[in-house]
Amino acid sequence: MIQLTEEQRLIKDTVREFALKEVEPIARKIDKLSEFPYETIKKMGELNLLGIPWPQKYGGAEAGELSYIIAVEELARVCGSTSITLAAHTSLGSFPIYAFGTEEQKKKYLTPLASGKYLGGMGLTEPEAGSDAGATRTTAVKTNGGYIINGSKIFITNASVGKSFIVLAKTDMKAKGSYGLSTFIVESSFKGFKSGKKEDKLGLRGSDTCELIFEDCFVPEENILGKEGDGFKSLMKTLDGGRISIGALALGIAQGALDKVIPYVRERQQFGKPIGSFQAIQMMVADMATEIEASRHLIYHAAHLMEEGKPFSKESAMAKLFASETAMRVTKNAIQALGGYGYMNEYQVERYYRDAKLTEIGEGTSEVQRIVIARGIIGKL
Ligand SMILES: Cc1cc2nc3c(=O)[nH]c(=O)nc-3n(C[C@H](O)[C@H](O)[C@H](O)COP(=O)(O)OP(=O)(O)OC[C@H]3O[C@@H](n4cnc5c(N)ncnc54)[C@H](O)[C@@H]3O)c2cc1C
Repeated sequence: MIQLTEEQRLIKDTVREFALKEVEPIARKIDKLSEFPYETIKKMGELNLLGIPWPQKYGGAEAGELSYIIAVEELARVCGSTSITLAAHTSLGSFPIYAFGTEEQKKKYLTPLASGKYLGGMGLTEPEAGSDAGATRTTAVKTNGGYIINGSKIFITNASVGKSFIVLAKTDMKAKGSYGLSTFIVESSFKGFKSGKKEDKLGLRGSDTCELIFEDCFVPEENILGKEGDGFKSLMKTLDGGRISIGALALGIAQGALDKVIPYVRERQQFGKPIGSFQAIQMMVADMATEIEASRHLIYHAAHLMEEGKPFSKESAMAKLFASETAMRVTKNAIQALGGYGYMNEYQVERYYRDAKLTEIGEGTSEVQRIVIARGIIGKL
């Protein structure tokens, strides 16, 4: 296992303490009421948790990818909704500006994002373009001094609470598939931009998931991110990193469920003994802990590769695939270990089970991860 540096250990402890003090007490309520945790996110900004990997000169903590991934994990251990808000803000809403933005774009947008002034997100998914991003129908037509964007994006995290969004749109109408796409930085205050209906979700109910709508939305020329036509390439790089964060979300959820199982099986008595003394329960706990530890290895390894500037596309897909499927198995068995109590909202493992499902879908489904991994091994035939 990668040895954490002193700084990484300190960030882990700080986020754990914050999560227990500020996030855990509200986790059940925000899930039940589908309520966005504005105050908690504001406090996270004050602690510099909204810009962990970005350079200090842009308002970040300059603490690296692994520190950020550990923060996503520790938050998810108590609340998936708060964790995915941070993950979408950092990996989707901020990373593209850091990686592909001009100096002016970094000053104007990355700095407020990293220093927690406001939240960001990314609009990629459309009604007809999910796994197949090449089917994007949103258009950006060149005009005097900028582009006019028309179309809509669905299922966007932070859509109604964020202020800046990375948006993928077609700029070359004749190009086919993944060609002719470009990315833009769009502010929520731009005329012709609005967020649409709020989704009523299975899990992560305290996170904000809405539609983004563009009706003749004018975006100034200086807000194109990277070169025209390079949108698909930069998007794929963004998703490689984003997948590590969704893996960390899954890892934290699985660890949080196991955290609830251990004291329960020690205390709960049936047939005159603690249920943790039954081999059936012990096997369950052993499998949970082993798979969680394996997920942690894969995720930290992928984050480390990213931090080192080495190729990590296959490794991030492996980490997300394994951790998300682990999270589903662990949370399902956590309910089983608690029996009928596990099925009840009060014991909270059912929330972990509902939250875990997203990790097999967002930023590429498990099927898409297997395609990426196989392509990384066999090559593109
Ligand atoms: C809570 C939540 C938050 C989200 N946040 C964001 C966000 O912030 N920004 C954003 O842009 N999107 C976001 N999404 C969207 C998410 O990334 C997509 O839902 C996901 O990529 C899958 O796309 P889809 O829903 O259109 O499913 P589809 O692509 O229609 O897939 C349906 C099924 O077909 C399978 N499938 C598709 N193609 C293939 C293939 N080639 N081979 C084998 N199987 C295939 C899939 O694996 C899946 O099982 C979010 C989604 C959710 C639920």
